[in-house]
Amino acid sequence: MTEVASTVGRRSILMLGLGLFAGCATAGSKSARLPSPIWPDGSLLAPPAVVAPIKVPPPTPTLAGVIPRSSWTKATPQVGNIDPMLPVKWITIHHDGMSPFSATDFSSCASRIELIRNGHRGKGWADIGYHFVIDRSGRVWEGRDLRYQGAHVKDQNEGNLGILCVGNFDQQSPSMAQLAALDRHLRVCRAKYKVKASSVLSHQEWASAKTACPGRNLQSKMSGIRRAIA
Ligand SMILES: [Zn+2]
Repeated sequence: MTEVASTVGRRSILMLGLGLFAGCATAGSKSARLPSPIWPDGSLLAPPAVVAPIKVPPPTPTLAGVIPRSSWTKATPQVGNIDPMLPVKWITIHHDGMSPFSATDFSSCASRIELIRNGHRGKGWADIGYHFVIDRSGRVWEGRDLRYQGAHVKDQNEGNLGILCVGNFDQQSPSMAQLAALDRHLRVCRAKYKVKASSVLSHQEWASAKTACPGRNLQSKMSGIRRAIA
């Protein structure tokens, strides 16, 4: 699975997986585009419907200073189960809600992100749900390519750019370096996609999302974050 997986044991992985469900886990992802095996008249084994090929946009250039996805995974998204990204109108901030995480070395952070991607794929999603990931040392990692719509807020993923800050901010606080990187990256994304400061939300600020994400110790900073980038 990952370097983390090989060292922390099966039970811990199970708990981490459960933690993922308890944390940031309310995203809706579109279902697979498979034709129904049942015709409207109820007969089975009808000829398969013709499914139009998915138009995959060209890759989005990685933003300056962002660690490319290829640095942490070789996996590619399941492109038959993913929509193109619409123009960005919103930015949503998350925590991972798993066990507290304090590591800052490159390989531990890469493994954490891969663990999250595996968790999301295990739920049947096309890929990791978030477009960017910020670790505790302030690195910004590319998650899901921005040519694809994310899967991080239930029923509200259209035009919604997802940023994950690794850690559990009900049980720990985001680091200063992480908050500084979040501030910088929000400014970059706002400028590039012309997103209003008031359209930068935390996960729980979406009415459709019944979640504690991004944890009280990051949620308490949201007003200040918006003021700073306005
Ligand atoms: Zn979330």
